[in-house]
Amino acid sequence: MQVNVKCQSCNTDSSFFIAKNVFQGPFRCRQCKNLFTLKVRNGEIESCEPLAVDVFDKSKTDRAAARKKKKEKSA
Ligand SMILES: [Zn+2]
Repeated sequence: MQVNVKCQSCNTDSSFFIAKNVFQGPFRCRQCKNLFTLKVRNGEIESCEPLAVDVFDKSKTDRAAARKKKKEKSA
C-alpha cells in the first residue's frame, strides 16, 4: 500500500510503498536527505522521528573500540 509522509524538515511530501500495512524503518527525504525513523500502522504514519546520523557513527565507533579492547586483552 502507498504511504504518504511529509518531511518534518522541509515539508516535502513523499510517498512510498510498503508490502504490509505495518512498517518501521528508516526513511530518507529525497529533498533534504534527512533521515527519519518511520513507524506506520494501518497505513497511517504513527511516528516520524528525526534519525541522527551520528547515532550510526557512534555505534560503529563503539564496536571498533570494543574490538580494539578485545585485541589488547588477548595480546
Ligand atoms: Zn526533507
